[in-house]
Amino acid sequence: MTAKETLAQLVSIDSVSARSNVKIISFLEKRCESMGLAVKKFPYADDLGIEKVNMVALAGAEFSDATSVELALVGHTDTVPYDSNWTEATTLVERDGRLFGRGACDTKGFISAALLATESIDLKLLHKPLALIFTADEEVGLIGAKRLADQRPLRARYSIVGEPTSLQPMRAGKGYCLTDIVVRGHEGHSAYPVLGASAIFRAARVIGHLERIAEDLKSRLHESFDPPYTTLNVGLIRGGTAKNVIAGECRFTLEWRPIPGQPSNYPLELLQKALAEEKKLDNGFECEVVASRDDKGFEVPADSQIVKQLETISGKTAGTVAFGTEAAQMIELGAEAVVMGPGNIRVAHQTGEFVPIAELDRCVEILRQAIEFSCL
Ligand SMILES: [Zn+2]
Repeated sequence: MTAKETLAQLVSIDSVSARSNVKIISFLEKRCESMGLAVKKFPYADDLGIEKVNMVALAGAEFSDATSVELALVGHTDTVPYDSNWTEATTLVERDGRLFGRGACDTKGFISAALLATESIDLKLLHKPLALIFTADEEVGLIGAKRLADQRPLRARYSIVGEPTSLQPMRAGKGYCLTDIVVRGHEGHSAYPVLGASAIFRAARVIGHLERIAEDLKSRLHESFDPPYTTLNVGLIRGGTAKNVIAGECRFTLEWRPIPGQPSNYPLELLQKALAEEKKLDNGFECEVVASRDDKGFEVPADSQIVKQLETISGKTAGTVAFGTEAAQMIELGAEAVVMGPGNIRVAHQTGEFVPIAELDRCVEILRQAIEFSCL
């Protein structure tokens, strides 16, 4: 099967994160077993009780308490949902040298390339073990990869995490953190402000602090990123019940993307200091901070062997990504991890997502050379 035919099969299996990924994992399991790889599945039930599976396949090693591989290629099997008007979302369509379909770019193109690259190598010649890792629930918070990192099924020295980067190796990524903030006050008739306390006025003061914190964060630079500092955003806000009622509650989200090297909870520490000041000035002040995401960023040195090697093979200088990836979990498993794959992140998650055929084929060649370099 060619990379394109493999991709057509993968795209035909609907693996939107909300569904079980059992079907696509079965397909990958058969492909890996036919190459003689040792396969182990790590099933779990997601929050809604739906069965999800992470899978690890090994060449040149068996599963044990101390499984260790030289190189791990990682692809997530789930995709974002697709618009019901995109009738060909699960049918791979070729047009103008591009392959269209949900997941074609993010990240089934990379998975096809990883399978083809592995199939092109005489695995009996491997001196050092290779792993293929296929995860679930990446698009809904890296859940599968986080579980796998906790279960520690293997250690890896190097890892290539598939995400659409137009085949540019990416050696660092910002983290992603999210909190819900609930500010409370006391309701009352708006004609008599002294009878209540406005949660919205209080929230506005907190947001004023956050705007200053966002400015403070610009003083710590990581020049590899654009923008080169930790950014924060208040994306959603809701408060009050009526125009003539003093607001009793105001809620908003606070999201930030920490640069690697800076503790991911640093903005939260600055916020807690600001909240302590507010409490001194307003003794009824009440604000609850509920953290829901703390995904760390990652960074591999520019002179790491895997970075240098992928720069040479791809002919592209390593860069950085501003979106979340499973590289952080691979680093937890001991790896120096680089993010790279065919297709462009700007067309991922869109109706009409596609991967250029030339990039898909080029990715097979890059991964083949990377396996040879690391494992032969
Ligand atoms: Zn992805």
